[in-house]
Amino acid sequence: MFENVAAEELLKAVRMHDFDPHDDPMDGDRIDAIKACEQVVRAAQAMQAQQIAALDTSRASHLTLGHGDHSLSVIGELGMARNISPSAACNHYGFAVGLARMPHVAAVFTAGGISEQAARLVVRESTGLDREQVTRLDTLLDGLIVGLTPRKAGDLARHYAIGIDADAAFKRAKANRSDRFVSYFPDTDGVAVLQVRGPAEQLLAAYNSLGKAARTARAAGDNRTTGQVMCDEFAQRVTGLKTANSAGVEIGLIMTLGNLLDIDDNPVTLPGFGPIPAALARRIICSGGQTWIRRLFTDPIDHSLTDCDQRRRRFDGTLAKIITKRDRRCRQPGCDSPIRHLDHILAFNNGGLTTKVNGQGLCGRSHTIKHLPGWRVTTEGSQIDWTTPTGHSYRSKRPALIEYVTSGPGHLRQ
Ligand SMILES: [Zn+2]
Repeated sequence: MFENVAAEELLKAVRMHDFDPHDDPMDGDRIDAIKACEQVVRAAQAMQAQQIAALDTSRASHLTLGHGDHSLSVIGELGMARNISPSAACNHYGFAVGLARMPHVAAVFTAGGISEQAARLVVRESTGLDREQVTRLDTLLDGLIVGLTPRKAGDLARHYAIGIDADAAFKRAKANRSDRFVSYFPDTDGVAVLQVRGPAEQLLAAYNSLGKAARTARAAGDNRTTGQVMCDEFAQRVTGLKTANSAGVEIGLIMTLGNLLDIDDNPVTLPGFGPIPAALARRIICSGGQTWIRRLFTDPIDHSLTDCDQRRRRFDGTLAKIITKRDRRCRQPGCDSPIRHLDHILAFNNGGLTTKVNGQGLCGRSHTIKHLPGWRVTTEGSQIDWTTPTGHSYRSKRPALIEYVTSGPGHLRQ
């Protein structure tokens, strides 16, 4: 049953289409085909999750007490039906059941507005909430998650989940942070993988410290890749062959003054990680990390740009910091990589000014792509449009720093 229906029409159309390079020299039709297939894949994934949740409900009503846990049977059947491992089936089951509690998110997923990965990250943020709170989270996210990358969708869901119950979020964070470990996995052909789980700000600082060492080494002519230098540095520092140069390594906490004064429970943003409970941010600040934690209050950042010299070629100093903290991640639509370059949207040589408005944070790869033939990047207000060689256009919206921090369901304590 259900063979050769549904997406078959689209697949047939793609199969039969004449992708003639003479009629369509830039292969724009292939991009259209890729986009259409993606919609079908997402709709199918959403339907699959819906069927898993419905099967779970059906089994729960058929099996009476004393016949064991019905979910174990569903997970076992799912694993075999999909030919995936029991643990993968268990994950998929958890996602499907969680998604069924969030009808708005499920509708966006079904319509192709977010990827399965994004839907999974959103559902993951709902796991610590009770049924009523999940419904609230689902309602709050309605209309806001369409088109978001997995990371942004997950961050937004966490932001609201923290706001719905800040005390519970803080308790979950405390419990999570006590679950710290290091594990070692032998890999093939002479390499292994070391995995570390621990407090976000500490690991972020460690990661930034290794990245800084790599950039310094490469700037001085070291021809190892960034990843190679980071790995070598890590091994040398941990084994004591070399000590870290901690100077200049810092992480930021974007917060309101109320957050710091303990009168505002809205989530605080840890750039490079995402939203964290305000109580956790206060604890991090009090824990002696002041030397490497920079508190970035929302108001001063947005009003401190007036005296920048717009004719300078390079984005540096305060302006560099503001663009980096404002954009947080690479501005190419769909890319969530860390910012490595500050770019003039309208090129400096074409009269582009060195201003907040004409600046964008990009990762190395996106910066290279932007300057390839046929690519065009333009800005209108806070939005940046990326047009590809085939003429397809994609929009990057600026993450709204202040609105993001101060809106939402969080509350000011009396
Ligand atoms: Zn990028």
